[in-house]
Amino acid sequence: MRSKADFEHLLWQVLHEGVEAYKDSDGWYLLIHTRCSYLQKDGSCGIYNSRPAICREYENSWCEYDAPAEEGFMLHFRNYEQLLKYCKKRFKTWGKP
Ligand code: SF4
Repeated sequence: MRSKADFEHLLWQVLHEGVEAYKDSDGWYLLIHTRCSYLQKDGSCGIYNSRPAICREYENSWCEYDAPAEEGFMLHFRNYEQLLKYCKKRFKTWGKP
């Protein structure tokens, strides 16, 4: 993710409640602070057999109970204002036609 358009899209994403963005050694990701609508009260998956690929690929050899995920973040934007400040610094022409 490098272009101004990429960051404009990311800005729109972090405008949403409970959405943050971060970058670690693998790239850019969103943090979405909300429950999956298919998580059952007993902790099981309500669509286990048809769950998305990302759920199938997820390994639980490590989780945030082991160490805060933020320890591996190179950049972390908790809201629009923080990311906008970064964009203005990264792109000298940000906000200019
Ligand atoms: S495995 Fe995926 S679809 Fe199922 S509850 Fe967890 S996040 Fe939701």
